[in-house]
Amino acid sequence: MSIAKWSVSKIDAANYCKMRYYLKYIDPNRPKPARLSAYVKGSLLHESIENLWKKNGTPEESNKKKNGKRYYDAESFAKYIQGKWTSIIIADEKAKEKIEWSNENEKWFIRSQLESICKGLYSSLINEGPPIYSEIPFSFVVKKWNLNGRIDEIRKKDGKIIIRDYKSGRPWMGEMKLDYSPQLTLYNIAVGAICFGNEEFARKLSMGEKRKRFMGNPIWANQDFQLELYMTDSFYIPKDAKTTAANPIHKTIRKNEHFFMLLKMIEETEYAVQKGNISPDWGRKCDSCDMKHPCKGTLDNINKPYLEKKTGQRFFDFAIPSFLKSNPPPVQEEQLKLRLRKRFVAKKLKSID
Ligand code: SF4
Repeated sequence: MSIAKWSVSKIDAANYCKMRYYLKYIDPNRPKPARLSAYVKGSLLHESIENLWKKNGTPEESNKKKNGKRYYDAESFAKYIQGKWTSIIIADEKAKEKIEWSNENEKWFIRSQLESICKGLYSSLINEGPPIYSEIPFSFVVKKWNLNGRIDEIRKKDGKIIIRDYKSGRPWMGEMKLDYSPQLTLYNIAVGAICFGNEEFARKLSMGEKRKRFMGNPIWANQDFQLELYMTDSFYIPKDAKTTAANPIHKTIRKNEHFFMLLKMIEETEYAVQKGNISPDWGRKCDSCDMKHPCKGTLDNINKPYLEKKTGQRFFDFAIPSFLKSNPPPVQEEQLKLRLRKRFVAKKLKSID
């Protein structure tokens, strides 16, 4: 039995839109994703959180850039990250693949926005203290799939194990994203899988003998793990605003059934690709999709004569409506006329009756 690799990013793409998954991971032409400004900002913030503890020092250390220290308080952290952003803007001027800004002033708008985001982020994280683990890799096999990826952070708070994922972008959190996102589901199972295979890791998370019950024995999703989506951009929203968007942390849990649905989604995506049953699912979400340019190209292939594929699905033949494909053979013009004539005569006879 061959094992198919499914990373968190693959699952995320398939969950967002099957066409996006196809273009990113299956299309033999490997179309390039767009460098959208939101993604560039997201990577910078992600990297900053990951390195926060390493680069945080005393004023003296950071002034002398000693031991890799670069900041010592919220203000110096914000300045440092804003400086990084300016370097990205400058590098982009000469870059071959340019960042796509949503408007002319966006780069400067983000720069000023980073000040409040970074100040809030620094204070909040310093207040919480460092996590037990960060950027934890995982890889395990369930049925015919290898599931793999990285978890942003694992923390322990008030005796609870917290699995945290940092997200940048619009900080408004919907109940469906929070309670059903397959990414968080996979993180829950993954922590169980690591505990199952690593006694020391399980001990650190106070899982002890319970670890043997993970990986479907009978626990897949441990409801005692608290899952968190941490919205970095919430610090841009005034604290007195009466909206949940001003709150960075959103908590949820998962149960086994979430995981079964995730496996079903993977299976259905594989089946759809195998059958060539993939088509664009255009809508509001497309504006923030990094595969939108190659995706637009599929429109030009619809209704073109069916191109016999030589290798795989080179000609996007999955996008051709099935009635235009040669298997089953297309209805010939003469046959079509005959069929329409028969229908017309039948209708006439019926009206005479
Ligand atoms: S542009 Fe829209 S339909 Fe096309 S791949 Fe992206 S999300 Fe899917």
